[in-house]
Amino acid sequence: MIPLADRFGRVATDLRVSLTDRCNLRCTYCMPEEGLAWLPREQQLTDDEVNRLIRISVETLGIEDVRFTGGEPLLRRGLVGIVRAAAQLEPRPRLMLTTNGIGLERLAGPLREAGLDRVNVSLDTLDPARFTALTRRDRLADVLRGLEAAAAAGLTPVKINTVLMRGINDDEAPALLRFALDHGYQLRFIEQMPLDAQHQWDRHTMVTADEILADLEPYGLLPDPVSRGTAPAETWLVPGHVDAAGEPARVGVIGSVTRPFCGDCDRTRLTADGQVRNCLFATAESDLRKLLREGASDDQLAEAWRVAMSGKRAGHGIDDPAFLQPARPMSAIGG
Ligand code: SAM
Repeated sequence: MIPLADRFGRVATDLRVSLTDRCNLRCTYCMPEEGLAWLPREQQLTDDEVNRLIRISVETLGIEDVRFTGGEPLLRRGLVGIVRAAAQLEPRPRLMLTTNGIGLERLAGPLREAGLDRVNVSLDTLDPARFTALTRRDRLADVLRGLEAAAAAGLTPVKINTVLMRGINDDEAPALLRFALDHGYQLRFIEQMPLDAQHQWDRHTMVTADEILADLEPYGLLPDPVSRGTAPAETWLVPGHVDAAGEPARVGVIGSVTRPFCGDCDRTRLTADGQVRNCLFATAESDLRKLLREGASDDQLAEAWRVAMSGKRAGHGIDDPAFLQPARPMSAIGG
């Protein structure tokens, strides 16, 4: 096994697989109201192609964690079968899913049965009117039912991902944490990144990790004694609370912009159309779909993947004056 190493000594063991660029929400900070020009079906990897690339990544390249994302991965028809195939690999990777939760009520059980280990559900507000304004869809109730179904199916710990935006939901950090604590979910705040299709992100107005932590001061958060390792979230203990498993309750902040963690990054990404990206913010991609459809062997695909990762830059460079936002928005990369 020759792993996915780069020039800076980092080794990728965590694969993010986007299963579709489509979504059933239109979050204002992610996609325009009319949606985007979706990938033509023939450009999207088939289920067999996705399964093959995941197999190569696990068997040949040392991938240990596979996270399915999108777009909205629950919209992918073959999702349960893809999860089942991944769960049969040796060594068995940990399998996760990032979803907006719509449809999870129906799919949580089958996904768990197929081998999914846990889910992250994105939820930016608990207020139904705000939810509708922010996502341009009246679906908060579906998301809340999806969260409950995930917990009931054992996709635990259920994590919630929240992006706070100034003047929109930046007053909700304490209430979201209260909600998560009451239900035994683990909450993670994610700093907003320059990955929106509309290119409206503004460094000066984004809500920072420091602000979020200041808002949570009444909870008396304590530093987490457990090492963060390569996890993107810095975590804190919430005194006086335990999670659904009886462990001390935690809250996390992913400070991608103001507290970057590129030096510890262990991720590699595969888009729904078969492009390897060595960073969320990469401006270049490596086309595995073309190689695969031209008849490349497993070894040739693995080697192309290694070459793609070896060129990973030291950091995402958001603060660099020459920073260029990638051509693809978050929904088409896989968040
Ligand atoms: N549809 C799925 C979901 O909602 O989780 C998966 C894809 S979505 C792009 C993944 C995550 O990226 C969501 O939690 C979303 O809030 C987050 N996201 C989207 N645009 C973002 C941005 N510009 N900065 C930070 N996070 C963003």
